[in-house]
Amino acid sequence: MLMSTINPTLPGLHHVTAITADAQNNINFYCDVLALRLVKLTVNFDDPTSYHLYYGDESGRPGTVLTFFAWPGAARGRAGPPQVAATAFSVPADAIDYWVQRLAAHGVENQLGGQRFGEPVLSFLDPDGMQLELIGANPSADSAATPWIAASIPEPMAIRGFHSVTLSQRKTAATSQLLTDVMKYQSTGVEGRRLRYQAGTHDQGPGTIIDIVHEPEMPRGTLGAGVVHHVAFRTPDDAQQAAWRDTIAPHFPHVSPIMDRCYFHSIYFREPGGVLFEIATVHPGFTADQPIEELGRKLMLPPWLEKHRAEIEHAVPPIQLPR
Ligand code: ZN
Repeated sequence: MLMSTINPTLPGLHHVTAITADAQNNINFYCDVLALRLVKLTVNFDDPTSYHLYYGDESGRPGTVLTFFAWPGAARGRAGPPQVAATAFSVPADAIDYWVQRLAAHGVENQLGGQRFGEPVLSFLDPDGMQLELIGANPSADSAATPWIAASIPEPMAIRGFHSVTLSQRKTAATSQLLTDVMKYQSTGVEGRRLRYQAGTHDQGPGTIIDIVHEPEMPRGTLGAGVVHHVAFRTPDDAQQAAWRDTIAPHFPHVSPIMDRCYFHSIYFREPGGVLFEIATVHPGFTADQPIEELGRKLMLPPWLEKHRAEIEHAVPPIQLPR
């Protein structure tokens, strides 16, 4: 078969999906404070009575996309192993001072920590208590970025997509082995209890780093508002997606079938530490059903839910879209 000859690539993150208890607060924070673009307003395809919100750069390029399942009134989760401890965006290194002031001006407490692998880290929480970071990155690392410049932020200061995610794990060996032996990441450094892995292939896009922090003493995390639900990696197309499924299946027999998520096609599996991983295709992307200038301007439904639009619009809470 042809697919067995494909050597599939995984050049970085596609999206990170977390849980919010309040869609409106979530929109206000990510669009007004972080100046991301709402690139898609849709519903959770597995639970069409709740919103699925997507934020990203101008086009929602894979590697820039943070998404939320909006579960109204959901109880807060607790970060801890085996979960994502922090989700980090990349900003130009000389924009960090601007962000300290911008967050403070919006009433967002923030803490400028020390350097991590030589880069400054600014830590803060979103309205659901989700741990976020802005990392002052080497400009050459994000040269292909197209930040959302219609928002109220000077272009040189804008977020350039993901820098990395940090996985909290009680044991690190099996997850590390998955990243390096199966997913072709490279181990590139150790700093204290933090292990760093870099995508082994390149597409000039952001979000190429996965960190694991070894936290054997931490209480187990619980899923809920403010906690990451899953981490998605990007692969270019359907042929490579199929090859990834063939590669993953012998190690993780419970890997899902390939699922149509409208804007990408996905497989899901739980890594040995316990974090839900997804591999999603770059194509077709968020312009599959809206032109770029219309992204995020109305509730979009996949073809198979369109006939239920009236019921769905009645079921989801009213929200005010970003200006
Ligand atoms: Zn996903």
